[in-house]
Amino acid sequence: MNLSKDELAFRDEVRAFLAAELTDEIRLGGHRTSGIFSDYEVGIPWQRVLAKRGWAAPHWPVEWGGCGWTPRQHDIFASEMAAADAPKVSPLGLVMAAPVLVAFGTQAQKERWLPDIRNGVSYWCQGYSEPGSGSDLASLQCRARREGNEWVINGSKIWTTHAHNATHMFCLVRTDSSGKPQQGISFLMFELNKPGIQIRPIISISGDHEFNQVFFDEARVPADALIGEENQGWTIAKFLLEHERGGSSAPFLRGRLARLHESLQEAFAQGAPGTEHEDIALSLANAQCRIDALHAWEQEVLTARIGGGTQPAWMPAAPSMGKVLATELKQHLTELGLDIAGVYGATSLTIEEAAAHALPVPEESVFATRAYLNDRAASIYGGTNEVQRNLIARHVLGAEVVEPVLPLDETQAMLVASLQGWLQDKLPFDKRVPMIATPEAIAPLWQGLAHELGLLGAALPEHLGGMGGGLPEQMLICQALGAALVGEPYSSSAVLGANLLQALGDPAADVLLQAMADGQVRLAVAALEPAGRTDLSRLQTRLFNSQGQMHISGRKALVRCATGATHWLVSARDDAGHLRICLLDPAASGVQRRDVRLIDGVWAAELAFDQTPVQALIGQGDAVAALSQAWDTATLAAGAEAVGVMQALMRDTLNYTSQRKQFGQPLAAFQALQHRMADMYMALVQAAAAVGACADVLGDSPERRAERVSSAHVTVLRAARLVGQGAVQLHGGMGMTDELAVGHGFKRLTVIEQQFGGVAQHLRRVAAGRSGLG
Ligand SMILES: Cc1cc2nc3c(=O)[nH]c(=O)nc-3n(C[C@H](O)[C@H](O)[C@H](O)COP(=O)(O)OP(=O)(O)OC[C@H]3O[C@@H](n4cnc5c(N)ncnc54)[C@H](O)[C@@H]3O)c2cc1C
Repeated sequence: MNLSKDELAFRDEVRAFLAAELTDEIRLGGHRTSGIFSDYEVGIPWQRVLAKRGWAAPHWPVEWGGCGWTPRQHDIFASEMAAADAPKVSPLGLVMAAPVLVAFGTQAQKERWLPDIRNGVSYWCQGYSEPGSGSDLASLQCRARREGNEWVINGSKIWTTHAHNATHMFCLVRTDSSGKPQQGISFLMFELNKPGIQIRPIISISGDHEFNQVFFDEARVPADALIGEENQGWTIAKFLLEHERGGSSAPFLRGRLARLHESLQEAFAQGAPGTEHEDIALSLANAQCRIDALHAWEQEVLTARIGGGTQPAWMPAAPSMGKVLATELKQHLTELGLDIAGVYGATSLTIEEAAAHALPVPEESVFATRAYLNDRAASIYGGTNEVQRNLIARHVLGAEVVEPVLPLDETQAMLVASLQGWLQDKLPFDKRVPMIATPEAIAPLWQGLAHELGLLGAALPEHLGGMGGGLPEQMLICQALGAALVGEPYSSSAVLGANLLQALGDPAADVLLQAMADGQVRLAVAALEPAGRTDLSRLQTRLFNSQGQMHISGRKALVRCATGATHWLVSARDDAGHLRICLLDPAASGVQRRDVRLIDGVWAAELAFDQTPVQALIGQGDAVAALSQAWDTATLAAGAEAVGVMQALMRDTLNYTSQRKQFGQPLAAFQALQHRMADMYMALVQAAAAVGACADVLGDSPERRAERVSSAHVTVLRAARLVGQGAVQLHGGMGMTDELAVGHGFKRLTVIEQQFGGVAQHLRRVAAGRSGLG
């Protein structure tokens, strides 16, 4: 993400604050936090420093001490905190108790508790779970009865994090047993230091004392401990759980990843035999892609939450999705930590013992092991991930799954709506097969996009007869075409071809682009060769001068939509070793073309050139940079198209599993299928966010652009496998017929997967910056 001037100034302000206030001692405490959040002894002093600066509760309403920041400011703040190893302050008061008070408390309750929570004067714990009530929380039995001006509590709460440090508890109690279990629950907030309340420590598998069991024996708390109405507690409990599960985790995870990179360097400082170092570096690159995607999606959540406006369809499921995605990624990072630790990861030293060099055990190895043990809890606390998947599935089964990859402005909304309407009208699924029966049959689609919709110039500047759009418009168009399974020839011509011409910046290119906007020119780009896989620079095609005329000789592999194109843009190496882009007439002499049908029905061609005359050389000097830029933007557009295809597959799968009955009930009633669909949905939503977040990559350096594009593309490729294969599987035998759109979508995804390089290649590009892997 590129920061504005104001955002950079804000980032500097946060950095200056951290440089001045984050003492070595507090930073070390933050660095050594392997549990859910920092220990009381570190967290509270840091929270008080933040409170003094007015930054302890940035998400709160401004009237109660919130900061009124933009989503970007929240992100910058969280990122800087994580990068500096600042302690993770307890969310129990700030993120869980406080929003309940703001939403349901009386003015007196707010005034009594909110300032103390913010300033780190009170310290809170959560009394929800009981020995007999975990996932099925509504079955809870801890009781409270009203006696005069007091509530009298009897029962027990368990797994109560930091209760041994806490001054206060928010708690669910049963106040009525006559109706449904959910109806007789009340929400209390009270001080813990009372007769009749006992706290017993529970030691975790990491040897830490983080949680406890709390016993209530005729414990009396004041009547105004009640929040909201008596027996309204279930509504409040659910509200609170959404806050517990919401929030942004990506900045913290990025901090953890940076730490893993450091420990990888340390662990292999003396070299290592074999490829272990490289294997782990690629695993870290893979984790980075997952963090990037989560980060992009969390920004969308934050923007929707703070900015209001149109809410994405997945918004009601966002807390559960965020919980699952963030905790599973967090757990994955701890596994990588363990991989890096190697043999020393098995020791049971404390971090302090390791730091004192009792044995030659690096502190990071001990940290990795403790984090690994501690973070098994991440998929259990706050509602287990199985239960979250139940909730996500319940939402998905009734949800609209077609969301644009980008927030739309008015013009873009009109463009997308008219394209979708046109596609539904002119190109329903049954017309697709005849439309791609021959390489030439696709021409009416091109003409329709040009003349009926005027879309071919949507991404071109106005002086070329375009509408002044750019990459965002191309992504939106590709997404809509993907949903209708007609990505070509738009993607190879109006995206890859047009972007290459624009990147070359040649007046001769402008003429072609203008003609393309009118539908007269259709481009095909011949850049890959049989021996080069998807490496643009591995070229054997030669450009040479023969009798005053430039010619090429060589071969090009699977050139999309070459047949029917009016012009070919062919890469070739000249005598000086430069990569040049040659404009060719498809009817020129010395061309051999062999049409090949791809598995999705689209046509490509193997091309061979034997002293073929070149019409013109486009651009001056080496064209590597221009071709890479065009290739990167086309990769993103292909990602957007894949998102469109996946949305169609997801929608079809949800419909099918809701209608098809087996064993006397709809397929969608089976939990195994629900969880699979929840995973498909989360992968899809993240792929959309990852692609959408890259709409501004043209402002980046080529290296940064490559890293961002490849990271997003890895997310797309993984989602394409999960959603494509899942859609076929959940359709059973019907998924294997060529008659349903689902099979066609699956094949189109498979073609997109091959076109711009696979996961391994893109992971290397992501890893290149950090680990020196090329
Ligand atoms: C480190 C840690 C800190 C915690 N802190 C607190 C705290 O401060 N306050 C508090 O109140 N609680 C806390 N908890 C408790 C936590 O909320 C519960 O552990 C959680 O809700 C699960 O309940 P359970 O442990 O009884 O597991 P169970 O509900 O018994 O579940 C056992 C297994 O069965 C699965 N399962 C259960 N029901 C279903 C279903 N319908 N479909 C599919 N699978 C299902 C679960 O996913 C799990 O894998 C904490 C837990 C941990 C691990």
